[in-house]
Order: sequence, then C-alpha cells, then structure tokens
Amino acid sequence: MNKHVIIVGSGLGGLVCGYILSKNGYRVTIVEKNPQIGGCLQTFKREGIIFDTGMHYIGSMDKDQILYRFFNYLNLLDDVQLSRLDTSGYDVISIAGETYKYASGFDNFVETLSQQFPENVDDIKEYIRRIKEIADASPMYKLQDINTNVFIEADYIKTGVNEFIESITQNKRLQSVLAGNLPLYAGVKDKTPTYIHALINNFYIQSAYRIVGGSGTIADSLAKSIQSFGGEIKTHAEVEEFICDDQKMTEVLLTDGRRLEADYFISNIHPQITTEKIKTKLIRKAYRDRIANLENTISNFTVFIKFKKDKVNYLNSNFYYYDNDDIWSFNHYDEKKWPESYLYMHQSVEQNARFVESAQLIAYMRYDEVKQWAHTTVGNRGADYEAFKAHKAELLLNKLEQSFPGTKDAIDAIYTSSPLTYRDYTATKDGSMYGIVRDKNFPTQTLVSQRTKVPNLFMTGQNINSHGILGVIIGAIITSAEFLGMNRIMEQINNE
Ligand SMILES: Cc1cc2nc3c(=O)[nH]c(=O)nc-3n(C[C@H](O)[C@H](O)[C@H](O)COP(=O)(O)OP(=O)(O)OC[C@H]3O[C@@H](n4cnc5c(N)ncnc54)[C@H](O)[C@@H]3O)c2cc1C
Repeated sequence: MNKHVIIVGSGLGGLVCGYILSKNGYRVTIVEKNPQIGGCLQTFKREGIIFDTGMHYIGSMDKDQILYRFFNYLNLLDDVQLSRLDTSGYDVISIAGETYKYASGFDNFVETLSQQFPENVDDIKEYIRRIKEIADASPMYKLQDINTNVFIEADYIKTGVNEFIESITQNKRLQSVLAGNLPLYAGVKDKTPTYIHALINNFYIQSAYRIVGGSGTIADSLAKSIQSFGGEIKTHAEVEEFICDDQKMTEVLLTDGRRLEADYFISNIHPQITTEKIKTKLIRKAYRDRIANLENTISNFTVFIKFKKDKVNYLNSNFYYYDNDDIWSFNHYDEKKWPESYLYMHQSVEQNARFVESAQLIAYMRYDEVKQWAHTTVGNRGADYEAFKAHKAELLLNKLEQSFPGTKDAIDAIYTSSPLTYRDYTATKDGSMYGIVRDKNFPTQTLVSQRTKVPNLFMTGQNINSHGILGVIIGAIITSAEFLGMNRIMEQINNE
C-alpha cells in the first residue's frame, strides 16, 4: 500500500509538493480551507473581469532558464500562457518624478541604465557581475546534485541588501534605482539579506512575463496533474488541529469534525499558525517561542481597478513609484503622508493586447491600521471599515493620477483589499505579504527548516527557503527531498 501524505494548504508550496510526491508514488490528499485552491495564486472575477491577488509576474521563463525548467518538470508549459513584459523596461522605477528602466537581459540592463548613469557604467556592470555570482553559487539555480541543507552561501545571508548596494556604487540615486523593486520582497534596511535581492533580480533580469488570464492557471494545472497521479484535493476543509500520539502525528481534525489519518503530514500554512495548531509535547517550548516571536513582512492595501472599455492603453511594464530617494523608509511610513510609494500593474488577458481591462495598485499597509476590525470576517466588517478603505483608495488613486493623468476618469469600478483580506484568505499572520522577515543579523534564527520536531511532519511554502514563484518551488523541492532524496528529484528535473 502506498504511503499516505496529507498536505495542509493548497498554496503553491502545497501543490508543488503534491505534484512531486504523487508523481513518485505517494498517496496524496491536499486539504484546503477555502472554496478555491491556490492561496496567493487565487484570482477573483468581478463582472467577468479577472484580478490577480498575489502573483503578478514571473521571470526566467525563456527556454532552458531556471523557472522554465521547473515549469517543464511540473508539466505547466502547455496550460500556463505567458505574455512577455517590455524587454526595454519590464520594471519602471519612478523616483521623485524621474523614471528609470530595468531592461531584459544582462547586457541590455547595463546598457539601458548606463544611458542615465554614464558616470557609473562600471558600477552597473559590477552589480550584474555580483548578482550573477550569487545566483550561480546556489546549487538549486544550477540544478546540481546537492546536500539538502546547503542552498545558499553563508556570506550572502549575512550581508544586508542596502550594504551590498552601497558597496557597489556611491551614487545615491543609482543606489535607490537598484533597490527600486524592493516591494517584491518587502526589503527592510539593515535586515534583508543580500541573497534575496540578488536571486530575485537575477531571475527577472533574464526574462520577465505576466501570466495571461491570471496565476490561477498555475494552481489549476498543478491540481489537474495531481489528480491524474491519483491524488485528491479537498476544498472547504479547514484544519483546526494537528493531532499527535507520543511519537508522531496521527491525524488532522477539521473544523467540521472530520478526522483524516495519514503516514506523513506537510503543512503549507504559516509556521506560527501551524505551531499553534499542534498541542503535542514533541514540540518544545523553546521552539514554540522562537517561531512565535519571528517578525513578519509588512502587509498591503490593494485597489483592484476595472477600466471602462477601450479607454486605457495596456502598460507592458510594472511601475514602482517613490516620492523621494528615501526608498527604504517606506516600510515605516508615516500614516499622515501615506501613500508615498506604490506599485501599479496591468492585468494581462491576452497577448499583445492594445487596451487594458483591469489593474492592481498596491501600497504597503501595516496590520495595526486595521486592527480595530480584527474580530470581523470577510464581507461583515461594517460601514466604518468600508469608509476607511474608500478613503485609502481615493488617496492612492489621486497619487496614481499624478503619474498617469486621466486614469481616474477611465475607471469603471474599484474593489479593495486590506491586510485583513490577506489574513483571512491565505491565513498569513497579520496579512503579511511574504511571511517571516529574513534577518541577516539573525540568519539561522530567521530561517525555518522544512523539518519539525514531529518526525513525520514537514513544512513547505514561502517561509521555507524563500517566497515568490521560484523561492516557493525550490522550497517545495527541499521539502519533497525529505521523502525522495534531493538527487532523485534533480535527476528527474534534468531528464525531463
Ligand atoms: C500582494 C502579493 C503580490 C505578490 N506578487 C508576486 C509576484 O508578482 N511574483 C511572485 O513570484 N510572487 C509574488 N508574491 C508571492 C507569492 O505569491 C507567494 O510567495 C506564494 O504564492 C506563497 O505560496 P505558499 O505555498 O507559501 O502558500 P499560500 O499562498 O500562503 O497558501 C497557503 C494556503 O493554505 C491555506 N490554509 C491556511 N490555513 C489553512 C487551514 N487551517 N486548513 C486548510 N488550509 C489552510 C490557505 O487558504 C492557502 O490556500 C506575491 C504575494 C503577495 C501577497
């Protein structure tokens, strides 16, 4: 009889573990609390218009680049349609009214930025050399046979992104530009380790794409494959408690009273929430305290915009906006001045579209701004919460209007989400965007292992390894390697 694995949560990490393990003969059951699978891969529709919630663009998807090879292994290439972002500027960084472009391809990136920083050509070349060096030092990026516990060099964990960038160039504006897409990882000055920035930028500079029709297509395709390998996905199945005997985990108890037994368990939910749901003595107080005290990345406020038909040209770049050069400070924003930064992205519904149907406008927001409604549930938070959101949306749209005049007039409808929305849909602590803050000052304490003190319980998802499409897939491979061995998975990826 095949060993049975229950995976709690159908986010990207849970689905990728489900894919790898069911493909390799395990009996997999995924339990998901929501009616829809995918976690941050969920899209939602209003009046027929699609909106992404937590996966807007991906990188390294040209043939034989790293994500392409993972997608090939995960059988995603046929089902997931992509639309290439502008190669002359997939990301546009706007600082104090000046705009700068990140172009696709390492040479193109250097050449494009050098036009605006002719004095700093060598610095930009050095930046590229260093981020490539960091990515190349990660065995997972090279799909090499590896030891499960070594996936990044220690030096890159112990230096902060801001220090790294300051070591590259003295030019303050260039420093800000090079750190300009930091909302992609909610970078925190003097904390976020260099490797996070380097792996992300190395990933997107190689090639950058939007997902046509939204990132839900990734979740649907993985689910289809898991089912074809004999796996099962149960929605409306919220785990209330993980139950152990004296030695191991035996079953999960769902909120509707169902109990599901298995040989192994993988939690795709936040480690702090996972730990709260396990009552066993196998997990010691010291471990519980360490996990409970970890800081989480900031949350966000999003305005989902539906445009009037054929009114707004499709913007084939992501637009990162900052009022001024102090771009690291926006993590600790002053509520009275909010929003001083935002990220604006159009949604792709077909390749080479002329007009856009919808967009997302995202700004950092701390959980404490919505804490007074913490006891409420989706759709029942009250009139004062709705007024709060309407006010914030107006502020954000007014700011957008300064860079894109006429946009407000072209809006047909808006929908908004707050840190509470993320908290309640994906069950991250305080609606945190990317889970636990990795801290170069406490590198080992802020890295969460895929292993737990319960021998047959493992973790996966953005808190293992790293967040984002690549970080989570690599994390899921690390978790699956506990069952299959890393080299067997690497061999399969390399032979697909
Ligand atoms: C606003 C935003 C924008 C982003 N943009 C990008 C981007 O452009 N590119 C990129 O690569 N990454 C992006 N990311 C990051 C990326 O989406 C995440 O890192 C990744 O999808 C997280 O996957 P995960 O496996 O950790 O699971 P999650 O997405 O956190 O899913 C966890 C799942 O577990 C379920 N669950 C929770 N509790 C229970 C329970 N008790 N019982 C059963 N099920 C439960 C949840 O409902 C959810 O489905 C973005 C994230 C956010 C928030």
